[in-house]
Formats: sequence, structure tokens, C-alpha cells
Amino acid sequence: MPGRIDGRVALVTGGSRGIGQAICRRLAREGAAVIVNYASQRGAADEVVDRIRGGGGRAMAFGADVADREAVRTMVEAAVHEYGPIDILVNNGGVLSRGTALTWDDAAFDRMIAVNVKGIVHTVQAIAPGMMARRYGRIVNISSIAGLGTATPETTPYATTKAAVIGLTKRQAFELGRHGITVNAICPGFIATEMLTALPEAAAQMGALAARAMLNRVGEPDDIAHVVLFLASDESSFMTAQVLTVDGGRTDFLSASA
Ligand code: NAP
Repeated sequence: MPGRIDGRVALVTGGSRGIGQAICRRLAREGAAVIVNYASQRGAADEVVDRIRGGGGRAMAFGADVADREAVRTMVEAAVHEYGPIDILVNNGGVLSRGTALTWDDAAFDRMIAVNVKGIVHTVQAIAPGMMARRYGRIVNISSIAGLGTATPETTPYATTKAAVIGLTKRQAFELGRHGITVNAICPGFIATEMLTALPEAAAQMGALAARAMLNRVGEPDDIAHVVLFLASDESSFMTAQVLTVDGGRTDFLSASA
């Protein structure tokens, strides 16, 4: 049976772990050749590639800090050389540091802006011109429910970067739509990855986090990967500039019980 994105080429930033590894595997299972980007954990990225190849898929790992414009350009050139033009770009790689409006740390915020926001600017600048030339492209930006409001406490600088991702998504969609490129964002709720479990109170309160979502559970990386696949496929061809919340009903649960 043909896959839903057979023959497409996809680049997933932060594809080595957590949500990104699930996205890489899901896209590969549906027929895409996948570039598994990582920042520092080469071994984790290699494992994702091995699993994809073991299942008969096509994948390669490529290290690049998305905050580094030149490193992104080099990665994209290598990817195009290996697999041909990129059809699908998933901007998933991200970092989180704690902070409130009062404990705000400028250095931590600058790093989050560089990775979470400028990283998306860099990949789009490197990849969108090729998509425009072929009048086809799917771009999916991973934001967060933190970017929508107050759902995650003590993450104010991070939430600010994730709100910026939503604004950036809409502007990119506006500017690229006439070239046949869709740009959408996903706002995951709490997903069981190292980013979440590294927050000490989150790890200790997994049950409480689950109880405050309508579906009564914390999400799994695959919960996000399925939605990315839809936005990366032709099934979503009339959707752009949209922000999909995938949080088990957490955001609405909080407003309902406020
Ligand atoms: P994670 O488990 O911490 O994994 C982060 C991934 O991003 C890793 O693959 C890491 O690569 C990569 N990365 C970090 N800095 C990078 C950089 N400078 N350049 C390229 N890649 C980089 O995080 P996750 O939970 O899967 O989060 C993935 C995305 O979802 C992030 O954008 C995050 O903000 C968002 N999100 C997560 C949750 C959640 O509850 N988990 C909720 C909402 C939104 P290495 O392996 O090399 O370090």
C-alpha cells in the first residue's frame, strides 16, 4: 500500500529525541525520506535512523544547531544533495528554561529566542526558496500551549518564545501561501518527554497533570506525530496559518474550571 507522503523528502529539527523522534518515524513510515536533525546527541539521532532503516525506510542524521544560520544552510545543502529537494519541514527542535516575569534571566531567554524562534527563521530561509521554485511545500512549526496563555506555570520567557512562533507561523503562511506552501503550527500540551520530566515538579505530579486534562492523561510523542503527518500530507492542502492545540483538552479544562 502506498504511504500518505510517498516519495516526499522531510527535514525534522530536533528529530533525535522526544516528540521529534516520533515525528521522524511516523513520516518515514508513510514513505518520506527523513533528515533527522539533532543538536548534540548524535547517538540518539543514529538510533532513530537505524530504526527507520530497519523498517525499510530512508533516513539520515545530520547535526546542526538551528540557532546557527550557516550550520542550517550546510545541513540543507547536504540533505538536498543526498535526497533531492525538501518538501516537508518540521520545526520541532526547542529548549526550555524556567523563569517568571520577575526571575527572568536574559541569557536563558536569548538562547530560547535563538533556538525556538530564530531557528525557525533560519530553516525557512534555507528551505522555502526551493519549495517556492517547485510551488509545493509543507511547513509545520511546533509551538506550545505555553504560547497560548497561562497553562504552564513558571515558564514565562519560554512561553514568550512560543507565542512568537505562533505569530511567525501566520506571517510565514501569509507570505508563502501564494507559492504553494502551507505553514501551520501545533501547540502540544504536556507530552511525556525529557523536556517535561526535567521539570522536577512535573515529574512528581504526572498524575495531577493528567487529571487536569479532559482526556485524563499526559500526551505521548505519537499524539503529536499523527497531527504533524496530517499537516505534512496532501490531506491538509486547503489549511494554512492555523494553530492546532493538541493537549487532551487541558487548555479548555482550565478555563472551564476557573
Ligand atoms: P526534548 O525531549 O527535550 O527534545 C528536544 C529536541 O530538540 C532534541 O532532539 C534536541 O536535540 C533538539 N534540539 C535542542 N536544541 C536544538 C538546537 N539548538 N538545534 C537543533 N535541535 C535542537 O523536547 P520535546 O519535549 O520533544 O520537545 C520538542 C518540541 O515540542 C519543542 O519545540 C518543545 O518546546 C515543544 N513542546 C514540548 C512539550 C512537552 O510537554 N514535551 C509541550 C509543548 C511543546 P539533541 O538530542 O541533540 O539534544
